[in-house]
Amino acid sequence: MTGDADYLVRAARHLAARGLSPGSSSNLSVRIGTRILLTPTGSSLSRVEAADLSEVSLEDGTVRTGRPSKEYPLHLAMYRQRPDATAVVHLHSPYATAISCLPPDEQGRAALPPLTPYRVMRLGDVPVAPYAAPGSAELAAGVELLAARAAVLLLAQHGSVVSGEGIDAAVDLAEELETAAQVTLLLHGRDPRTLPPDELAALRPPP
Ligand SMILES: [Zn+2]
Repeated sequence: MTGDADYLVRAARHLAARGLSPGSSSNLSVRIGTRILLTPTGSSLSRVEAADLSEVSLEDGTVRTGRPSKEYPLHLAMYRQRPDATAVVHLHSPYATAISCLPPDEQGRAALPPLTPYRVMRLGDVPVAPYAAPGSAELAAGVELLAARAAVLLLAQHGSVVSGEGIDAAVDLAEELETAAQVTLLLHGRDPRTLPPDELAALRPPP
């Protein structure tokens, strides 16, 4: 538990230092058996301490200790649909949030064209959960519908939510999503090439 808490705090500080966690908006968690350890409500990731972390039951959503981020239903939704996931990162990072404000395509995929192999290999298709109020059951339900087929999601007009096997893997994916969003926006108004369609199927990760 102490080790998990320390890893979570280290990841929180890293994301804050990278400028990916404005204000007190973002939150992250790790799963330990049937519990999740989560960053607290209203706390900047730059200042969070292990003693501030909250514990929530994965089985029934009961808050066991502390005051978790009000967005904890998002985390529960990801863990319920992704049994291998042991960490979830939810960010309001600027570039991914900007992409979340663009309309998705007709398949509900984010406006993140296949510009580079790593964008496709690491992130796959990135679905966009419909807009609902932060912390609401409706938002969590939208995520739960998509999470079984995607470890990396955007929340419309809100930000990103990413799961991974371990906090480092989830942080890496969140950073790769932010970079893909940044590259996409850097090319706005240009006419970038995308990868050939026959290359894409081989690059996509398993769901
Ligand atoms: Zn949020």
